[in-house]
Amino acid sequence: MLDSDPQDSGHNHMETDQIRAFREILIELRSELEQLQETGSEATDTVTLDQAKVGRLSRMDAMQAQQMAEETARRRQLQLQKIEGALRRIEADEYGYCFKCGDEIGEARLRFDPTSTRCMVCMEK
Ligand SMILES: [Zn+2]
Repeated sequence: MLDSDPQDSGHNHMETDQIRAFREILIELRSELEQLQETGSEATDTVTLDQAKVGRLSRMDAMQAQQMAEETARRRQLQLQKIEGALRRIEADEYGYCFKCGDEIGEARLRFDPTSTRCMVCMEK
């Protein structure tokens, strides 16, 4: 049985090397986020503990800072989930295709955001 279909050689889906490069970027992003997540949750704890010592105005500042920290943590968590999803698609050999139309997302767009799940056309809809 021949694996190489001559009609298939013309299609230009990303090379394995490129996908491997994206995989490395994603893994690096993930470890950065995980590190930030650890330091970030420490900062949130500190704000909570300090509230007892500070006056009314600065307590509001502290609460605002805590809310911001929580929002940042929440966004990080979402980003981590997107990264995990992208890594799973790489493992499953499905990386780089649009969720909606099934077309290729395109390398330029993946470079901008390696966790993209939609092509430019579907994003603009
Ligand atoms: Zn699409």
